[in-house]
Amino acid sequence: MVNNHYAVIGGGINGLSVARQLLLDFPDSRVTVFEKEQKVAQHQSSHNSGVVHAGLYYEPGGLKARLCRRGAELVKQYCLEKDIAYDECGKVVVALNTVEEIRLESIYQRSIANKVADVRMLNAEEISAVEPNCIGTKALYSPRTAIVSYGDIAQKIAEEILEKGADIILGRAVTHLTENNKKISVHFSDNDHHDSTFDYVVSCAGLQSDRLAAHSGDIKTPKIVPFFGQYYVIDEAYKEHVKGLIYPVPDPSYPFLGVHFTKRIDGQMTIGPNAFISLGRENYSGTDYNVVDIYDFLTYRGFWRFSSKNVPAAARELRTVLSQTNFVAQAAKYVPSLANVSVTPATRGIRAQAMETDGSLVDDFVIRKQGNITHIRNAPSPGATSSLAIAEYIVKEIMTHE
Ligand SMILES: Cc1cc2nc3c(=O)[nH]c(=O)nc-3n(C[C@H](O)[C@H](O)[C@H](O)COP(=O)(O)OP(=O)(O)OC[C@H]3O[C@@H](n4cnc5c(N)ncnc54)[C@H](O)[C@@H]3O)c2cc1C
Repeated sequence: MVNNHYAVIGGGINGLSVARQLLLDFPDSRVTVFEKEQKVAQHQSSHNSGVVHAGLYYEPGGLKARLCRRGAELVKQYCLEKDIAYDECGKVVVALNTVEEIRLESIYQRSIANKVADVRMLNAEEISAVEPNCIGTKALYSPRTAIVSYGDIAQKIAEEILEKGADIILGRAVTHLTENNKKISVHFSDNDHHDSTFDYVVSCAGLQSDRLAAHSGDIKTPKIVPFFGQYYVIDEAYKEHVKGLIYPVPDPSYPFLGVHFTKRIDGQMTIGPNAFISLGRENYSGTDYNVVDIYDFLTYRGFWRFSSKNVPAAARELRTVLSQTNFVAQAAKYVPSLANVSVTPATRGIRAQAMETDGSLVDDFVIRKQGNITHIRNAPSPGATSSLAIAEYIVKEIMTHE
């Protein structure tokens, strides 16, 4: 592995972290990152909630549970070392009734099983000591949950790997990879291919990961089905009503965490993200659409099976898409003093969520090796928290495994 030439496809936080890990472990190797945009980290890595998740929710023993906890430690360490802003503002997951209390208790048990530091349950009075304007019957408090800018972290990693001798080639969209006698060629959309061949390739293509994998001979499913998440920034004068992060108890039938209050590292307070099907994998405006992307999910059996099973949750999310008032009302259930707050639409993010043909959403991270090519096939939240640990896992365990 020492003097090899590695290619990484995708300059998001995962691709950049993999490139960094390769250079740390094999300083004499050559590493080339191919990114289709003109800058790194233009997609999920800079369109997210910016939360360093502590690992509360994830199935013990799964990759998410393991890599989120390790990743959170590594992100904190990286921010300290590189002087990147890191705010351990804490998080409460708030139950509003007895049904939610039961679900919250099982999240608490998971967080204990996952050895998340310092978590504890709060009663209604204790909630107000942490979040004075928040109401709830019980809450799970995670004081170590933090906020960062993953876009800034990705930029810093890009600078670091350039200093360590990597090449980052921008504006090059890879269409497929071919492997011949353990050497891999990288092909581009203009029928061109890169002059060198590579010994190993790691594909970290986020919203395009299923296409790149399938075009390179890997299995066709699960497919990425894009779900957007809209954020709103609340009126500056009201932002002190929330101190840190306030989350609802997730609905077990819907795999997203629900609209929450998120303090941003730049000091803004946002609410969001909701979760609804996106009319394009990379259309952030909300008014644009992409015919190929729409065709892809409309002709996918999994999408129709998912839709038929999730009508109530989809209807709830649609209400937040159609009406800003509804959106704010969802959040104000937790902080009633913000019921009439004015909000401004902020960016939306689009989740690269893998979906199986039976309509189930793939919960855990999926990383597959095919010859000397490794594909990240599913890395939704907490994928940014976990990125430095995902990189360690790929380089130290997956790539060395024959
Ligand atoms: C709304 C939302 C909220 C989230 N909140 C959180 C959070 O609070 N905490 C957390 O830990 N995680 C969160 N996540 C998840 C997190 O953002 C992602 O897990 C993480 O950013 C994934 O990084 P990535 O590098 O795999 O993908 P991306 O950042 O999407 O990067 C993929 C890169 O590959 C490039 N690419 C794609 N195809 C090609 C090609 N063919 N050729 C060349 N380049 C290509 C793209 O241009 C892109 O730069 C959230 C995600 C969303 C959408």
